[in-house]
Amino acid sequence: MSIDFVEALSTDNLTAIKASPKTDVHCHAFFSARRESVEHWLGHSVAKPPLKMKGVEGMMEYADAVLASHIKHREGFEFVSVSAMNDAIEDGVVMLEMSFDIRLAEFYPNGLTELRTFVETLVERYQAQANLRPELGFSRGNADHPNLMALAHEAVELGFFQSIDLYSRQEVCPPEVMKPLFTKARAAGMKLKAHVGEFEDAEEIRRTVEVLDLDEVQHGIAAAESVEVMQWLSKHQIQLNVCPTSNVMLDGVSDLASHPIRILFDNGVPVTINTDDLMIFGQSVSEEYRNLYQAGVFSAEELNDIRHASITGLG
Ligand SMILES: [Zn+2]
Repeated sequence: MSIDFVEALSTDNLTAIKASPKTDVHCHAFFSARRESVEHWLGHSVAKPPLKMKGVEGMMEYADAVLASHIKHREGFEFVSVSAMNDAIEDGVVMLEMSFDIRLAEFYPNGLTELRTFVETLVERYQAQANLRPELGFSRGNADHPNLMALAHEAVELGFFQSIDLYSRQEVCPPEVMKPLFTKARAAGMKLKAHVGEFEDAEEIRRTVEVLDLDEVQHGIAAAESVEVMQWLSKHQIQLNVCPTSNVMLDGVSDLASHPIRILFDNGVPVTINTDDLMIFGQSVSEEYRNLYQAGVFSAEELNDIRHASITGLG
């Protein structure tokens, strides 16, 4: 327990890396548990994802073919969520902003109310070990679905979700379409986030932050292509919640050693290190830190600074 994070990284002591407190502020409940945990529960193994997939579509192809039938129902979702909390705590994660997609309400006869009750139970059950801050998740692909949009407005009104995240490919709908929901979320005191710049288009990152008044960006790594956008993000202290293995496996980045998180960091953009979808990408937060160190992206001291910044002010 006396080994600090810097020493743990430089001596490759994974147990000690795990023992240091960390956060995961970019993770999606639906794929949040380790694949091994799901296999154990099912009593059989499932096919591993390819090492490289063609973007989010490639990932969904794998997930639909291999994972969906096991977890796309109430029992599967609840198993995954509980399992994810155990996996995170074992990894030394003390705070999670985990997104719960609005469509998860469809698993429950009483819809949103019952989903909320389940998540509330999860928060309470683990509160002594980890602070789970429920995040409302909404896919751009559902923006033209009036019932789901109405349900998302209802979810914001509950005052239960502490943040909101918009995801799926940025090309699917312009941020303006989401403005009413995000305005309501802002008024409710929620933190505002969106996936943008996962693969390209630095300027679209700035535009989305401005249109939706975002506090933080999920991924946003394409900002590294523009010094001007990085300076802007730095000036406004817009944090990018980066998921290195996800970026490599979905081919936004060729390999870890050339991950643009280094350029973002050097240009003063606040960054955090996260899992995205542990079930698919297979690397915990501790492992992500270790991988970045071993790939020579950051020194152990720099990774400790990033870790420290992520837990500062958690209280
Ligand atoms: Zn994500």
